[in-house]
Amino acid sequence: MPIADKMVKMVESASMIRKMFEEGARLREKYGADNVFDFSLGNPDVPPPAVVKKTLLELINNDDTTHGYMPNPGYPQVRQAVADYLNKEFNVGLTRDLVIMTAGAAGALNDTLRALLNPGEDILVSAPYFVGYNQYAFVANANLKPVSSLADFHLDLAAIQAAITKNTRVMLINSPNNPTGVVYTKEELEGLGNLLEEASKKFGKRIYLISDEPYRKLVYGAQVPSVFDVYPHTIILSSYSKELSLAGERIGYLAIHPKAEDAAMIAGAAGVTNTMMYVNAPALFQQVVGRLQGVSVDIDIYKKRRDMLCEGLFAAGYQFDVPQGAFYLFPKSPIEDDLEFVNLLKQENILAVPGTGFGGPGFFRLSYAVPEKTIKGSFDGFKKAFDRVK
Ligand code: PLP
Repeated sequence: MPIADKMVKMVESASMIRKMFEEGARLREKYGADNVFDFSLGNPDVPPPAVVKKTLLELINNDDTTHGYMPNPGYPQVRQAVADYLNKEFNVGLTRDLVIMTAGAAGALNDTLRALLNPGEDILVSAPYFVGYNQYAFVANANLKPVSSLADFHLDLAAIQAAITKNTRVMLINSPNNPTGVVYTKEELEGLGNLLEEASKKFGKRIYLISDEPYRKLVYGAQVPSVFDVYPHTIILSSYSKELSLAGERIGYLAIHPKAEDAAMIAGAAGVTNTMMYVNAPALFQQVVGRLQGVSVDIDIYKKRRDMLCEGLFAAGYQFDVPQGAFYLFPKSPIEDDLEFVNLLKQENILAVPGTGFGGPGFFRLSYAVPEKTIKGSFDGFKKAFDRVK
């Protein structure tokens, strides 16, 4: 093999995703884009707020805007702006030294995991979970250990407790969740914090909580409780991919609770890992987001689509809980085999992702980061596919 043995499996799973995209392109070419209903991608299509363009133009026309190398963790004034904003939200006395600007939430995950984990240590994650975690664990040489969730996809604290061993270094959570849209409650997060504290004592090793929050602003009436409030040994990761619709610009950050055990050392290590797979977050977009703390896309657009999609799918007979956040729906597959059902949907020119890919077999994921006409146009096909198996 000309490529590393360990890469073979990773390339196979990447090619499965690529095949899905290719299939979408093939269907669009054959039937016309208006007759294909592609719910497979979590790529925000709501335009960035107008102030993003205005800020970009100002920066481009300003001679003080810089484009060179910078301290690897990011521009000090941008880290300060993020720390100030997070202090308004979480009030934990965050300083800029504990904030690192990254290439999206993915960059923040890579930096944090590689800073924290020894080879072979475990990252616990509640299933179903975002597929990218497999790759980030791979790069960190760590084991991703999925733990089952409750029937409503909230955290199963007893299962998490039972899964923790002396090999556990990190608990990774994601709320609002991809793929389920669930937002964890304050109570369950408090339960998690207590459990992690006890387990850290029991095994004589600090277990860190990593909270992956790129969808924090995309909630429809729900509150996203502060994870910093429930467990100090927490690192929050986020990005502007969804809240400002800037996914392709690769800009995000990680923020370490000031009371986290060895917080300064972790920040130092993450500042170094931030130079290893890529070198620092993009300069121009650091300067953009530094000026736009607290701004977000119009979430009413997503809410309207969510309501429309839920209504159409309920009417067709599908079962699911109305998601409170992010832009995904995770309905139960009407037959046990979600891969087979996704193929049936494809026959109706509807593209969805099997839950099996997220460690959630028996379900499928729909992204409603799509225009309303795609949602409306899909209802017939959803009904036909459902009726075929019922
Ligand atoms: N975490 C979750 C749960 C995601 O859904 C995504 C992207 O879809 C990411 C992280 C990566 O986000 P970013 O584009 O900011 O790197």
